[in-house]
Amino acid sequence: MSDNTFQASPIALAAPLPRRSRQARVVWRNNVVTVGGDAPVRVQSMTNTDTVDAVETAIQVRQLAQAGSEMVRVTVNTPEAAAAVPYIREQLDRMGEYVPLVGDFHYNGHRLLTDYPACAEALSKYRINPGNVGKGEKKDKQFGQMIEIAAKYDKAVRIGVNWGSLDQEIMAELMDANSRRAQPWETRQVMYEALITSAITSAELAQSIGLNPDNIILSCKVSGVQDLIAVYRELARRCDYALHLGLTEAGMGTKGTVASTAALAVLLQEGIGDTIRVSLTPQPGEARTQEVVVASEILQSLGLRVFVPSVTACPGCGRTTSTTFQELAKQIDDYLRGQMPVWRMKYPGVEAMKVAVMGCIVNGPGESKHADIGISLPGNGEAPAAPVFIDGEKAMTLRGEGIAQEFQGIVESYVQRRWGAGA
Ligand code: SF4
Repeated sequence: MSDNTFQASPIALAAPLPRRSRQARVVWRNNVVTVGGDAPVRVQSMTNTDTVDAVETAIQVRQLAQAGSEMVRVTVNTPEAAAAVPYIREQLDRMGEYVPLVGDFHYNGHRLLTDYPACAEALSKYRINPGNVGKGEKKDKQFGQMIEIAAKYDKAVRIGVNWGSLDQEIMAELMDANSRRAQPWETRQVMYEALITSAITSAELAQSIGLNPDNIILSCKVSGVQDLIAVYRELARRCDYALHLGLTEAGMGTKGTVASTAALAVLLQEGIGDTIRVSLTPQPGEARTQEVVVASEILQSLGLRVFVPSVTACPGCGRTTSTTFQELAKQIDDYLRGQMPVWRMKYPGVEAMKVAVMGCIVNGPGESKHADIGISLPGNGEAPAAPVFIDGEKAMTLRGEGIAQEFQGIVESYVQRRWGAGA
């Protein structure tokens, strides 16, 4: 290799830009979840149980929290739901689950928060949609009533605008103004403006009523990837409130996952966004926790957070026609995720572990050596042996039917040795 093979300066490293927002605090007991500023980007989720069923809702909140959701939102839409909220909180506290609860209010939030003070206290944050707090004169009055309660209990508020329920008065005003322009904007651009105007003017009103600006988080959700990117770039430019990101109504399965990832990854890389939610429609039989898994994976893939040990697995090809390595990769992935609620407490730092499960000799040993612990399964025509690499060195070779179980045992001992007490 000649000297001029090398460039004069190294290739720049890629990394998400730093964020610059105020820092909000979402608190329950001694669990203080900071949002914005230099806090890590937070993962949120929302239940889909009937809030009136306090037991079922508490169970789902706990499942979401154990999957990694740092705040969980519940619908508070009726007096019965508002009455159930303190019981949900009580049950979570009894289980030692102090994840902050967020109340989702539309239309009647001002009445519910006033009539059910125990609900107002049990929630750590209120989500208020300025598009449906009331019409005409009632709008500011009812919004103000909710903000006064938030200020009284020192709760965080997300002013959450959504293009599906956009304030029609603001939209009409901006459309009128647009029609008088010499060169009118596209309707979509007027809609962007209406979303941002609704969020920022509501935040300013909340501040004028007495809400601490550090307790305000904004969101402007739309369902198109390019729309979301355009709106949040401008929202981030115009204000320094912490921002909650999410593609609303992202959809099901692969479509919802890919669309959310595409939109959120662009914005997070630009340093925009302080909390995220992936609004997946669960497929029949799919766990609600899938949205938390996807949100965590987005942050982990971008290098912004580390939640669970990562499994590097090859896609397989004509060199390995059996499904053994696919099954092993899935078993190991499921096993690692299943262990995390306990491991997180017992083995601090284990979430950074890298595991490789590879299909043949071509990249298997090399990739396995890059991981903390890796296994290279035999491809077609290779000897039926699976070398295991630990900390870059070949440690043993597994053979026979019980490779999956044996490898799981090896991973468990490695975790105990490396991250256990006294390690
Ligand atoms: S490691 Fe082997 S089996 Fe896996 S994709 Fe590469 S060549 Fe194919």
